[in-house]
Amino acid sequence: MNYQELANFIFPEAKPISYYEEKYKKRNLPEGAIVTRFAPSPTGFVHLGSLYQVVIARKMAKQTGGVFFLRVEDTDQKREVENGVTGILASLKDFGLTPDEGMISETQEIGNYGPYKQSLRKDIYQSYAKYLLEQGKAYPCFATPEELEEMRQKQEAAKIRPGYYGVWAKYRNLTLEEAAERIKKGDPYIIRLKSEGREDRKIKHHDIIKGNVDFPENDQDIVLIKADGLPTYHFAHAVDDHLMGTTHVIRGDEWLSSIPLHLQLFQMLGFQTPKYAHIAPIMKEDEGGKRKLSKRKDPEAAVSYYTEIGVPKEAVVEYLLNIANSNFETWRKQNPNASIEEFELQLNKMSVSGALFDIVKILDIAKTVISKYTAEQIYEEAQNWAKNYDEELFQLLQDKTYALKVFGIERGNVKPRKDIAKWSDVKENISYMYEEEFYKEPKQYEYQKITDKETIKRILTLYLEKYYEEKDDKQTWFDKIKDLAEELGYAREVKEWKKEPEKWPGHVGDISTVLRVALTSRSNTPDLYEIMQVLGKEKIEKRFEKAMEK
Ligand code: GLU
Repeated sequence: MNYQELANFIFPEAKPISYYEEKYKKRNLPEGAIVTRFAPSPTGFVHLGSLYQVVIARKMAKQTGGVFFLRVEDTDQKREVENGVTGILASLKDFGLTPDEGMISETQEIGNYGPYKQSLRKDIYQSYAKYLLEQGKAYPCFATPEELEEMRQKQEAAKIRPGYYGVWAKYRNLTLEEAAERIKKGDPYIIRLKSEGREDRKIKHHDIIKGNVDFPENDQDIVLIKADGLPTYHFAHAVDDHLMGTTHVIRGDEWLSSIPLHLQLFQMLGFQTPKYAHIAPIMKEDEGGKRKLSKRKDPEAAVSYYTEIGVPKEAVVEYLLNIANSNFETWRKQNPNASIEEFELQLNKMSVSGALFDIVKILDIAKTVISKYTAEQIYEEAQNWAKNYDEELFQLLQDKTYALKVFGIERGNVKPRKDIAKWSDVKENISYMYEEEFYKEPKQYEYQKITDKETIKRILTLYLEKYYEEKDDKQTWFDKIKDLAEELGYAREVKEWKKEPEKWPGHVGDISTVLRVALTSRSNTPDLYEIMQVLGKEKIEKRFEKAMEK
């Protein structure tokens, strides 16, 4: 029996690899175009670190006129959850990061390089496994779990490197006849790589992010095809990324140590190797130290967290670009209004070690992002969010005309307000503009300097009787508050008061604070004139009266 015969015996149905090599044509793309992918297991869950990889991979593809595709890696069927692909696609869509190609639902896909779900590619992997068998570069292994356990224990006791290699690779030198015999008998088996590597030799590799690294060669006879007929991650990676025309493998740096094996697989299969960029994980400060942002410990590790609290997707994406390239911040300063699509991301400028997660920074970016929205956009987004997460806010926003006025306060000018970081801030932010919310008991008035009841009453009464007119423009309105201050014996101008503070009990600012607090119950609000314009005479009078009762 020769290798060819054994290969035929194991995989009688498998097509020659030339079939696939022909079928999946070389992509016709401009010079320098990057073809890359996101290759999650269908767990339904997207970690912020994965979103980070997606942002980077997709940006690199877009920037170069390439392709970004989604491949579902479901060969480890233990890790799978129901509708896991749907969950992942929904998260990508939430962040505006839909792939160009690959899976688009649990069962559908687009693109000419599919199937994009590994469990549907069994035939393909078997063809390539057969190809290796034919050349004696792979072999069937009959080791039972007990045998492997015994081997592990011996290695541990002798304090030597664990694994299936060299003298430990018990089935590596079985004769082809013996192998065929055992298969005929029905003994369970897997297919292993017959590694040609040597642990005492080094390979050199250049990683786009990590730079030059060297590793010992791989000498482990790793599993290519498991007992269930499906490939291991390593084998599928080589076959898929070859056939799908991946030029750049952009992935988490937990895979960096697999480089010797992956390069070996590409070489033994006769494939051209892709370029690799291994991304450092996002870290979190914890008890003075640093650790990876963890799915188990940190709610903010799940990208759904940002959707739930209502951080706009652009803010999260912008934050991730911010930690990807340190020059992003300067670029943003120079181009405050540019779309992030215009930023030129550079893989080789990414940091070798992990960036520290910073929620304050995310919220800060979100504030700036939202400050550039129109009232209409804020309305749409806040309403969309409220529909899923806050019924009360959703109800408040029913009157769109009024809501647009509220959101329009201090917006659209040179220095727009920056007080909303997430849609879950909105209710608290605008509630005082709504009667039903405003009159919710108990009410605290945060009066500042002037707290004496009688004085407050006097200010409000006089203002209503003599100075307030709904139709006044801003200048007139303000002049009248100054007049009111003067009539009450307060300084008309803050500047004057500062020069001789002993001359007056206070200044115009203290008077307008009383008006503001009586109207809104808060001492800190956006422009009072605009607030009053939106509230209108009737509500203003009623609120002042209520304040005087207290
Ligand atoms: N399925 C692998 C993972 O989820 C993919 C790694 C890769 O991008 O090659 O980690």
